[in-house]
Amino acid sequence: MGFIADSLNRIQPSATIAVATKARQLKAEGRDIISLSAGEPDFDTPQNIKDAAKAAIDKGQTKYTDVDGIPELKAAICAKFKRDNGLVYKPSQISVGTGGKQVLYNALLATLNPGDEVIIPAPCWVSYADIVLLGGGKPVFVPTTMEQGFRLQPEALEKAITPKTKWFLFNSPSNPTGAAYSDGDIKKLTDVLLRHPHVWVMTDDMYEHLIYDGHKFYTPAQVEPGLFDRTLTVNGLSKAYCMTGWRLGYAGGPEPLINAMRKLQSQSTSNPTSITQWAGVEALNGPQDFIARNNEVFVKRRDLVVAMLNQAKGITCPKPEGAFYVYPSCAGTIGKTTASGKTIANDEDFVTALLEEEGVACVHGAAFEGSPAFRISYATATEVLEEACKRIQRFCGNLR
Ligand code: PLP
Repeated sequence: MGFIADSLNRIQPSATIAVATKARQLKAEGRDIISLSAGEPDFDTPQNIKDAAKAAIDKGQTKYTDVDGIPELKAAICAKFKRDNGLVYKPSQISVGTGGKQVLYNALLATLNPGDEVIIPAPCWVSYADIVLLGGGKPVFVPTTMEQGFRLQPEALEKAITPKTKWFLFNSPSNPTGAAYSDGDIKKLTDVLLRHPHVWVMTDDMYEHLIYDGHKFYTPAQVEPGLFDRTLTVNGLSKAYCMTGWRLGYAGGPEPLINAMRKLQSQSTSNPTSITQWAGVEALNGPQDFIARNNEVFVKRRDLVVAMLNQAKGITCPKPEGAFYVYPSCAGTIGKTTASGKTIANDEDFVTALLEEEGVACVHGAAFEGSPAFRISYATATEVLEEACKRIQRFCGNLR
């Protein structure tokens, strides 16, 4: 083991990827498995975006590009920030990477010194803490509750800030809870941050367009322009544009930070795939109406899943405002015994037994620092979701 770097021993493999891999393995063995673990839409990438990629190949746009994005894509991103968020970035303030994940990774690795603290409202996306740890920083989780709609309260943020706080990492709509913050909710947090000029804001707006029931999306630098000069606004094409496999993410932020991120990327992956970048130009500049059509489907699925899960014994499932996840509590199942005699001591036991006994794969809340709960992705065909929820109801009904 001494051969492997200490830094790697600080982190865990992605739990969501681990569950999805296990589900695929069981399926390959012939088991009847429904996987609700992956964070990706089941919809195909829109045709105009695919056509733009094909055209890029035919035009020979297949060479190395500028490390952090072609000028055409940076221009499309600047236009998007202005159009959707009222944020005015120059192309020199834009960084493009291989997925939002790389952009977040670059920003954290480029700024963290040993012991620097990063405030992360929990439950949170699985990768934040591990990237912080890899960079030598210290994740500081601040819990939120189901009763507060999984939204961070300003007093809790204030309490978590220390002289060592470098970043406040914000994510709305949230993975895994689907919670979305209103402009008023965000203002309360940005008021706190204004009092602490050494704290920078990293906002992960990946689920911007996946917001329902008339709720509106807001991002911190838009709500509080006073924070613009210390905010990195991260976004990507994976979720709303159904482009998870293409790997394209981006951010807008102060030039010195963007330059540092480029320096790091120049010594790792270099540019994101040239073909994907041209597809990204079309995605951002082309028609956006498919997003609303997809959202109509997502809302129906969310409502179905929430209703069915609330009929499962021991499960309480709030109705989230956005993303494509529900995050039900399984507190009422802890301490019970399954049909095959397994005792459920925590949410990992719950999802493990559910997978073994009913063939439904979900991710346990502990992976997101929020127990006892589990995450279901409803970005799956409606009939499949219905069958999965029936199985969950049966599983819970059999608990003794
Ligand atoms: N941020 C959040 C909250 C996510 O859920 C994900 C993907 O699951 C990402 C970032 C990274 O997305 P990608 O690297 O595909 O752009």
